[in-house]
Parts: sequence; structure tokens; C-alpha cells
Amino acid sequence: MASVKVAVRVRPMNRREKDLEAKFIIEMEGKKTTITNIKLPDGITGDSSRDRTKVFTYDFSYFSADCKNSNYVSQERVFRDLGTDVLKSAFEGYNACVFAYGQTGSGKSYTMMGNTGDSGLIPRICEGLFSKIADVTRKGDASFRTEVSYLEIYNERVRDLLRRKSSKTFNLRVREHPKEGPYVEDLSKHLVQNYRDVEELMDAGNINRTTAATGMNDVSSRSHAIFTINFTQAKFDAEMPCETVSKIHLVDLAGSERADATGATGVRLKEGGNINKSLVTLGNVISALADLSQDAANHLAKKKQVFVPYRDSVLTWLLKDSLGGNSKTIMIATISPADINYGETLSTLRYANRAKNIINKPTINEDANV
Ligand code: ADP
Ligand code: MG
Repeated sequence: MASVKVAVRVRPMNRREKDLEAKFIIEMEGKKTTITNIKLPDGITGDSSRDRTKVFTYDFSYFSADCKNSNYVSQERVFRDLGTDVLKSAFEGYNACVFAYGQTGSGKSYTMMGNTGDSGLIPRICEGLFSKIADVTRKGDASFRTEVSYLEIYNERVRDLLRRKSSKTFNLRVREHPKEGPYVEDLSKHLVQNYRDVEELMDAGNINRTTAATGMNDVSSRSHAIFTINFTQAKFDAEMPCETVSKIHLVDLAGSERADATGATGVRLKEGGNINKSLVTLGNVISALADLSQDAANHLAKKKQVFVPYRDSVLTWLLKDSLGGNSKTIMIATISPADINYGETLSTLRYANRAKNIINKPTINEDANV
């Protein structure tokens, strides 16, 4: 049993926020994140819904709003805390998953992919994977096979970001394997030997994402991107051949403002299709799982049947194992520091707070005598 680990990360003020002379409303100290509603007068306490400041505790609160601050958390540090955990899990034979959740422009892609020369979790995890493979291979203890795939879920349709133009890339089907669980039929998997190989694929996939974005209305804020590493280790255990297979899902979710109609402005509401089914269902799944864990903690498990609606969306169906199942899972909630985003930021902090309650059941995926 393992709880979902939750981190919150605050980015610097952007141009627009500075131009609007937005106020900084986020403070972090240790594991705590505090948000202030500057519209309320100072000194009001008691009624928690109206408290001027609200404090949340997470596994990590990452202050990345000012690189000159002594508490500044860099990409390197995020990798050291969270990425090395993912690598450790993979080498032990567990599945792992990292989600980035937050409103558009809050730093999801920066945290997951990063910028040139300032790479994020995905490139660092891949680099770390190959450097560890080299270490173990040198000792001659095991052999490895690494495959990657990269897909996008847009309007509940799965699109392969790595498939060559000539073949089918749109509208792939999600099916379920009796033993291995849900998977995407016909999704291309690419065997990679070193970090260079992965980098090329990542770049190609990212270009596919952004090319589409220029033709359609901000696809990247509406779509979920899932980068998956399939990692197989073969070794001898007491003279017997033994294989472990780990799946690592690295997920850049659609902008969280798409989860909630009440947060949408008039214009956005009229756009049509602005509610993201996968994101709404993710919220429902997280809530159901949080309820389940609470019941279990209170020894009520048998009294109440909680239904977890995995099948209601493509995202939750595909990532079923990562949510309350066989996986070590991390959620990174990214937020803006500015008062003008108070509503969205508070809802992200609450969402992340709910996710803390999910208990997963990771097991080593071992196949003896293969
Ligand atoms: P999202 O993917 O959530 O829509 P992005 O990751 O694209 O948001 O971030 C929006 C902008 O803010 C980008 O230009 C990105 O480089 C910058 N940014 C985000 N987080 C940080 C951070 N922690 N430090 C520095 N710049 C950041
Ligand atoms: Mg993005």
C-alpha cells in the first residue's frame, strides 16, 4: 500500500500578471502552501470558507517563483526528489506514474518536458534510466529492453504522436488485455538504446503536438499527453531466469480550467466542447478513490460500495492502474502566484489535497521462468 505522493509547484509571475500589477498571494514553508484571498479584509477568522488565508500541507511544496530566492526549487531538485523515486520503482519492477495538473500556463509542460537547456522530468528520467542501465550492464547482472510511446487524448480520441504520416495516427482504439489491462491498439512502440534515441522521439512527438495546435483552437490546453516507457529487465534469480516489466506513464494533463463549467467565462462557455470529459472523470475517479481510502481508514470498507468510474473516459481507463491500482503514483499540481488566478489556484490546491488520500497497491511485475 502506498499513498499517491503530491507536490505543488508555484511558477514566477508571467508578463501579463506583471503588466496587470498582480499581487503575489502564495507562500510556502516546508511542506506547507498558503494562499491568501486579498479581497477579504485582514483579521477575519472562524468561518473557514471565508478565511483570508488557507493552508495546505503536501508531500512537497516547491517554491519556483523566484530563482534569486534562497528557497528556489530548480528542475534538478524536482528530479532529485521525484524523478529518482520513479527510477527506483522502475528498477524494482513496479509501475510508476507522474501527473502534472494545473490551469493553462501554470507550468505543467515546463515541469514535465522543460525548455532547451532547462529540461524537465521526462528528459531527466530517461537520461537517468540509461545511465543506470549502463551501470548495471557493466556489472553484467541483467539485460534490459526499453520501449517508448507517446500519445495525445483530444476530444476523447487517442492520437499517436510518434507514428509516421503514412499509417493510422488518429482515433486509435482503447482495448483491455485480460492480464495486462487497458492498452491502445496499434499504438507505435519504439525500441530505444540510448538517451539520444529517446530525445529524437520526444522532439518529434512534441512537434506533432504543437503543429496540430496552430491549426486548431489551443489543442495543448485541451489535450492530455502521455509519454510511456516500457521497461523490461531480465536477470537470473537463484539460477532461474526472471523478468520484470515496468510501465512508466508521464502525463501532461489538459488545463484544469477545462474541468469545471462554473469556472469558465461566458466566451469560453459558448465555445462548445470546453468541458473536458477525461478531466472531469479524473476528478470523479480521484474523489471516489479518496472516499474509498477514507472508508478503509475508518474500517467502513464493507458498509458502503463506492463505484470508481474508470470507464467513463479514455484517460482514466488507460491510466486505471496508476489510479488506486498497481503503480507508484505522483501528482504535481502547478500554480500561478498571482491574485488574478485566485479561483483556479484554490481549486487546484483543493484537488491536489484530495489526491493525497488515494492509496495504491503497487506490486512487482515479475514473470518467473520466462
Ligand atoms: P502549461 O503547460 O501548464 O500550460 P507551461 O509549462 O507552458 O504551462 O508554462 C507557461 C510559461 O511559464 C512557459 O513559458 C514556461 O517556460 C514558464 N514557466 C512555467 N513554470 C516555470 C518555472 N517554474 N520557472 C520558470 N518558468 C516557468
Ligand atoms: Mg502545456
